[in-house]
Amino acid sequence: MWFGGMISTVDMKSMSRDECRGFFESMGEPGYRADQVLEWLYRCRALSYEDMTNVPRPLRAELAEVAPLRPPEVLARSVSQGGDTTKYLMGLADGNAVEAVLMEHDYGLSLCVSSQVGCAMGCAFCASGLGGLVRDLTCGEMCDQVLAANDDAAERLDGARVSSLVVMGSGEPLLNYDNVIKFIRLAKWDRGLGIGARHITVSTCGIVPGILRLAREGIPVTLSVSLHAPDDATRSSIMKVNEAYPISTLVKACVDYAEITGRRVTYEYALIAGVNDSPAHAGRLAGMLRGTLCHVNLIPLNPVPETGYVRPASCAVDAFARVLQSRGIEATIRREMGSGIDAACGQLRRRRAPGGGAKEADPV
Ligand code: SF4
Repeated sequence: MWFGGMISTVDMKSMSRDECRGFFESMGEPGYRADQVLEWLYRCRALSYEDMTNVPRPLRAELAEVAPLRPPEVLARSVSQGGDTTKYLMGLADGNAVEAVLMEHDYGLSLCVSSQVGCAMGCAFCASGLGGLVRDLTCGEMCDQVLAANDDAAERLDGARVSSLVVMGSGEPLLNYDNVIKFIRLAKWDRGLGIGARHITVSTCGIVPGILRLAREGIPVTLSVSLHAPDDATRSSIMKVNEAYPISTLVKACVDYAEITGRRVTYEYALIAGVNDSPAHAGRLAGMLRGTLCHVNLIPLNPVPETGYVRPASCAVDAFARVLQSRGIEATIRREMGSGIDAACGQLRRRRAPGGGAKEADPV
């Protein structure tokens, strides 16, 4: 593709199907080439245009020049002791890195995907926010996380593929809205990553305009909201976003989301000892959510050494769940996965040696 006499390359994996169709038409090719090429990339795991045998050979050569493919790069891989959780440190073309976490459940493989390098939201308990936001990820960089996990699973797990996604890694997905929506559309496309919308969860710290926009997108993904407190004083002390979108506004947006999409909203609640884990907090939470279509996911905090916050005793976690359940709120305690592999989001990236090397302890 010529722009003012200079060759400019195109990132094929960062295009939506419509954008890709436009790209091929601008080359004088039929629009259907877009779906052919994207299917090779996402469904058939082609690493080079040469593999795309239903694309004419001269076009393959031209594509290699104008839209060179960069395969997903895994800088480090870390497997939990139980072997059911694998964390990947993915290298990006500009030298940055993000994490993705693969979890093996009895219902299939689930991947936690990052949507930004770092995060601007600065939640007090989170490693990803410690260095601030570096940049948004492109849709292709999110797709690459899935492709890398699929490649790894193909080798280690008898060709299994990722069957559900949670956009819950580093970053706030609703502040990288357009790229995340492009990614979701490619993920749910049956000739793309082939993961149904009902198996995709978008997790937000509570960006109300984004929630309301997502509700009207026509994609029935599950909305997961990091609530973490039942009152504004407690929530503002650990989540800066609460200053912009206080709890009453947030819960109202979630009720709207459930009404518009028919999907139950999940509230994530990280239990932090002495901060938000008392029976009184549980009672306030139950009162606030009563009568709404929701589920509460209780997560005993995965401690991040830099933050100083600690996890409550398991009896306090159980007591918190019992208060919610006795008040008619569906609540579960999240199964522990990934202990011993820096499972709190952002920890592997932060512990990476400066200069880009993988940690010695991480078998790649
Ligand atoms: S918890 Fe999520 S929104 Fe908050 S700082 Fe971490 S990555 Fe960002």
